Amino acid sequence: MSNDCFFYTEEERQFKEELRPWLEENIAPLVKPAITGDYDKVRQALKLMAKKNLLGSIHSKEYGGTEKGVAWESIIAEESARINGAIEMTRLVSATLFGVPISKHAKPELRKKYIPKIIKGEMIGAIAMTEKNAGSDLTRMQTRIDKDGDDYIINGSKRFITNGGKADILSVYGVLETLDEKNPRKKITGLLVESKTPGFKVVREFDLAGMEGASVAELEFKDVRVPPENLLGKEGQGFWILMDELVVERIGMAAACVGHSEAAFDRAMKHAQEREQFKRPIYGFEGVSFRLAGDYSKIRAVRLQTLEAARYVDAGDEVTAPIASSMAFANGTEMELSVTNHALQTLAGEAITDRTGLVMCAHRMAPVMWVVGGTTDIQKFIIQRELVKRIKK
Ligand SMILES: Cc1cc2nc3c(=O)[nH]c(=O)nc-3n(C[C@H](O)[C@H](O)[C@H](O)COP(=O)(O)OP(=O)(O)OC[C@H]3O[C@@H](n4cnc5c(N)ncnc54)[C@H](O)[C@@H]3O)c2cc1C
Repeated sequence: MSNDCFFYTEEERQFKEELRPWLEENIAPLVKPAITGDYDKVRQALKLMAKKNLLGSIHSKEYGGTEKGVAWESIIAEESARINGAIEMTRLVSATLFGVPISKHAKPELRKKYIPKIIKGEMIGAIAMTEKNAGSDLTRMQTRIDKDGDDYIINGSKRFITNGGKADILSVYGVLETLDEKNPRKKITGLLVESKTPGFKVVREFDLAGMEGASVAELEFKDVRVPPENLLGKEGQGFWILMDELVVERIGMAAACVGHSEAAFDRAMKHAQEREQFKRPIYGFEGVSFRLAGDYSKIRAVRLQTLEAARYVDAGDEVTAPIASSMAFANGTEMELSVTNHALQTLAGEAITDRTGLVMCAHRMAPVMWVVGGTTDIQKFIIQRELVKRIKK
């Protein structure tokens, strides 16, 4: 219902308006099979979205991208998340989370080799940073990278990797042991690894309690040999490559929070007007209508904040973009927890008895969003750290 925002350009507004019915017609029918175990439907959704140019916003036209930027990408993330969180996360991770490091830091030959296939949905990408002992604190990474001549050899494991069980290509981060550095951050190094490389193994795909239909996996790397040209940026630059990627990631995630929440809100709003109890529509009870009023306001506020953060990135403002992105994402996750919970209350029995329905799916996405891309606590940690830096200046 609230598909507008004063601060969109006319082109963005039109795009958003046209995208919504297209997604409803083409992607919505795939959701139920996709979230109940048919991964081919997730792949099909990705390919259909690729044909509609929905995977190339941050990529150069040279490789088939649209170069539309992060604000445009946030519109896609929001509208696609309205349809389903798992399908959107699969798209976002492949196109953008995997996409940012490769588009900025891979050698031109590798960009040419992989980006067009990612944009066409012919390959699925993933980003592997998290490990058993390295969650919020990525400097605790233990995945080891050694050198054999010019080649890199990876040994270690990663967990909770979205698209991990199905990806064709991953950006993988580990500690380059040959670097003579005391600060663990300065040893973290990123490499591109094809999943068909000998020694790469999908240990298991997790039984998800939200975002069902996506592949989130534990991965093992045993003497995985990677040629030198697969290095992302420079040796020891991996930590900063990740920090840069996470700014864009969090904007996509914040937009997805808006999408999940708005889908649940719209359903609740409709139900509140149609459902009668005590001889009147339940919308007539302030307990219901005030809740909806607050939810609508919060959704719009996070959309604005997300757009603002995206505009900072698109304008190249590397100082403001990180705090803006964490603020949008922190507010987005908290808003989503509350709005989807309220929608569930408004629909009551009708929501609870529809496990794969839109409201319950959005409701189960809320805690997922609280964790992925850095927990909401970590977003607040980043915000307060930036505030202190400003005071010290
Ligand atoms: C569905 C899903 C998909 C994911 N996809 C990916 C992926 O594609 N690639 C990838 O690399 N990772 C991925 N992750 C991992 C995700 O980024 C981590 O789970 C997340 O960063 C938190 O790490 P953790 O789970 O180890 O929690 P921990 O870091 O152990 O945190 C536990 C608790 O401590 C709190 N905490 C920790 N440090 C601080 C602090 N400094 N201040 C305040 N509170 C703190 C946290 O907020 C949290 O409440 C995914 C996770 C999930 C659940």
